[in-house]
Amino acid sequence: MIEHDEFGPEKIVEVYDPKTKMRGVLIIDNTALGPGKGGIRMTPSVSKEEVFRLGRTMTWKCSLAGLPFGGAKSGIIADPKKMSLEERKAQVQAFARALKPLSPRQYIAAPDVNTAEQEMKWYAEANGSWKSCTGKPANMCVKPGEKCGIPHEYGSTGFGVAAATRVAAAFAGIDIRGAAFAVEGFGNVGTFASKHLEQSGAKLVAASDSKGCIYNPDGVDAGKLLDVKEKTGSVINYKPGKVLKNEELFLLGVDIIIPAALPDVINAGNADRIKAKIIVEGANIPATPEIEARLHKRGILVVPDFVANAGGVISSYAEWRGYNPKRMFELVENKITRNTKRVLEHARKTGAAPRDAAMNLAFERVRKAMHARAS
Ligand code: NAD
Repeated sequence: MIEHDEFGPEKIVEVYDPKTKMRGVLIIDNTALGPGKGGIRMTPSVSKEEVFRLGRTMTWKCSLAGLPFGGAKSGIIADPKKMSLEERKAQVQAFARALKPLSPRQYIAAPDVNTAEQEMKWYAEANGSWKSCTGKPANMCVKPGEKCGIPHEYGSTGFGVAAATRVAAAFAGIDIRGAAFAVEGFGNVGTFASKHLEQSGAKLVAASDSKGCIYNPDGVDAGKLLDVKEKTGSVINYKPGKVLKNEELFLLGVDIIIPAALPDVINAGNADRIKAKIIVEGANIPATPEIEARLHKRGILVVPDFVANAGGVISSYAEWRGYNPKRMFELVENKITRNTKRVLEHARKTGAAPRDAAMNLAFERVRKAMHARAS
């Protein structure tokens, strides 16, 4: 069930193309701050409810990041693993054509589950506007070498997660140099977060993927680990290290845990046994707000997902403005550092959990914009 409230959703659009059998949905949650921004998820199970929840999160993420974007999300109901390249292209292009009356004026697309730079290229070509989506390939430029795509593969989200972690560590009185951290999900977000934290002097001691978890209290080299994962298919083949079950990662005696894969991995089953002092949510919804409140009561500092993992949407904004990658990374670092500080300071001042503090700040900006739009 989608519940309508004071914020939205403003538009729920279902589209179908008989020729390609493309079925899709777009939900524009709130556009008070600007056009709705959010990725295209392409899975067989994507539902209107899922798209709405993700779109609402984008409303808060863009608001808190101080971007001139509202929140939105879209989905194509299809299983790309069972489709040929041509079929995938036809579906993405049919979707782009169907949304053309709204995109880019009210909706700007981006990559999400099962969509990446290739899909963004198809989307922008079929839409006809370079501004209709972000996360496009680096060689897709308005002019040669000028105003080019900035693919999510550059690692802006993990880079931002590392920036949020540095702020949280300083806030908790932990020296980032030598701080031990564990990463659940050594994928795009997890690898880049590890690399940048290592550069700040922190020590990766555990990392997991779908096959298991590798642990070495003396340190795991993130670059070497990525090599091992790419060559052998999993982090568990890294040496020297001990192979653990995935769920054991959350119980390790580390300073920092970075969930960077699945939802609800921190739950009623492990929340009271977590020893880490800081959790920085690289993944979306790795814990419910209730579980986060429990961790807060135990004195564990949690940087919520929409604060910590906003690097991707900030990179999208940089691309949309025509910035180069260097300027994009500067923007991500500045915004994530400033916003994480703001949220943690607000939480400390009010005694609220960081998620509640962040939500208050995000609400305020959207409410003000809605008020200004109405008057
Ligand atoms: P990805 O597919 O690149 O990586 C996910 C990793 O998780 C893979 O290494 C996979 O092996 C691993 N994994 C799968 N099942 C696991 C399990 N049971 N235990 C441990 N690891 C497991 O995905 P990503 O782009 O890095 O996204 C990760 C999370 O970050 C998702 O929640 C996503 O929504 C969120 N996120 C990503 C971005 C981005 O720009 N990529 C932006 C915002 C939020």
